[in-house]
Amino acid sequence: LRGYLSGPVQPVEIPIPMTATTAVVHLSNVRLEYGGRAVLRGINLSVAKGSMTAVLGPSGSGKSTLLAAITGELVPAQGQVEVFGQPVPRDARGLLAMRKRLGVLLQGNGLLTDLTVLENVALPLRAHSGLPAAEIQARALAKLEAVGLAAAADRFPRELSGGMARRAALARALALDPPLLLCDEPLTGLDPIASGVVMSLLRQLNQSLGLTCIVVSHHVRETLPVCDQAVVVANGGLAFDGTPEALQASQDPLLRQFLDGSPH
Ligand code: ADP
Ligand code: MG
Repeated sequence: LRGYLSGPVQPVEIPIPMTATTAVVHLSNVRLEYGGRAVLRGINLSVAKGSMTAVLGPSGSGKSTLLAAITGELVPAQGQVEVFGQPVPRDARGLLAMRKRLGVLLQGNGLLTDLTVLENVALPLRAHSGLPAAEIQARALAKLEAVGLAAAADRFPRELSGGMARRAALARALALDPPLLLCDEPLTGLDPIASGVVMSLLRQLNQSLGLTCIVVSHHVRETLPVCDQAVVVANGGLAFDGTPEALQASQDPLLRQFLDGSPH
């Protein structure tokens, strides 16, 4: 035993099959509807661990609806949604456990106006981490540092620019170190410079933390270059699923119309 312990450590190669098990999000034949009216039909989608996936498509095509199926807000009328290799729970307890591992950045930022930036970021830690106050403070500050906002920790949301508020909301979404981040239109209301900052920040977090990101956006030019996978939602289904390069090069008339006509 002694000789065994002091010998060189042999790395054990465990082959990981490239199947649904390595996908952080997996949808198969999913149908999503409101009041019996289908918005999306026959959706198949896999988002690999550590990838950054752009969900693009015109306004009203069903991008937010697709996210709602991943968070469990919307139960599919048909098909299966798996997150972290498990079907999305339908009971409150299971859903809460899944959502603690899910960072969500919504369009309105959702920052509480009566709290400072630091207090906003500390909220999820207060609610769910069970850590002592000093540790919560330290972790919240570290998250603000990660988004370049440490100097604004004691400011109130109304004192922030649009881009800073978006980054503060991002820090809060990441407070519990979720392995998966969902962003719904993270560039809305931001000027081109702030948009560039937010997208490159998302990419940096994706690459440095191995954070899997799904970014819903209709801003193709800003979003596509920093992603690994691109999906286009149109006409009730996925009009494209592939690499950003393949999408850019597509000659499909519907895709070209969307790509060439999208806002700058
Ligand atoms: P996107 O995010 O791509 O702009 P949405 O997913 O918000 O599109 O909406 C897709 C379609 O579903 C739209 O026609 C919209 O009006 C409809 N829709 C969205 N949410 C609801 C809802 N809660 N009830 C009924 N219809 C909805
Ligand atoms: Mg939307």
